[in-house]
Amino acid sequence: MGETVKVESPNPRAAATGVAEQLDGRRLERVEAIGKNLVLSFEGGLVLRSHLRMSGRWTVREPGSVAHGRPWLVLRGSGREAVLWGGPVLELNKRAVRRLGPDILARPPDFNRMVSNIRRIDQSRELGDALLDQRLVAGIGNLWKAEALWGAGVSPWRRLANTTDEEIRAVLDEAARLMRRSVDSGREQRSIYRKAGRPCPRCRGAVRSRGQGDANRTAYWCPSCQPGERGVRLPGS
Ligand SMILES: [Zn+2]
Repeated sequence: MGETVKVESPNPRAAATGVAEQLDGRRLERVEAIGKNLVLSFEGGLVLRSHLRMSGRWTVREPGSVAHGRPWLVLRGSGREAVLWGGPVLELNKRAVRRLGPDILARPPDFNRMVSNIRRIDQSRELGDALLDQRLVAGIGNLWKAEALWGAGVSPWRRLANTTDEEIRAVLDEAARLMRRSVDSGREQRSIYRKAGRPCPRCRGAVRSRGQGDANRTAYWCPSCQPGERGVRLPGS
């Protein structure tokens, strides 16, 4: 940070975004982790948001180290270079930071603002879908969404209109607690994520799974511990 950086995009898909040309020769002012987003602020008010999804990776190394492959982005300072491999989400604008909701891993997390963000959107949306919307709350991924909803006993299929502030808050609180514990311990304890068909650790009923939201990401839930809309499929339906 604080240096003027040379910026290149060796990967053709990344080069097509034009991000490197716009950042090249600017001073890197600040780097922040907001949830799973890495947000790099450059002089002139340009903000680069990078989200690694499952496969991306940032590394910092000596300049000119032998590199294989075509990284998405290389930021070169005088003594170090930062290299982004396989970063599927690369967004450059002046509003990236403001567009993200409060960080679930902040100490303490701003639960009031998260709840009010969630209340501002279309209340016919499902809670499980809203939890993954990074503009409302930043940092909750598919795994912790499933675990937090199960922990709080709230169905991912509940429409926001039928969910109380207290229930939303309980889910957010559980997400923050589980994620903080995972970060601090370096371990991931899963109760139901990717355990479809296996017994729920609480009631021994079968864990269910189904795609949710526009991105059709798989939701996991226990219909008896997390009752609610579409949570229990009627016989023959
Ligand atoms: Zn259960």
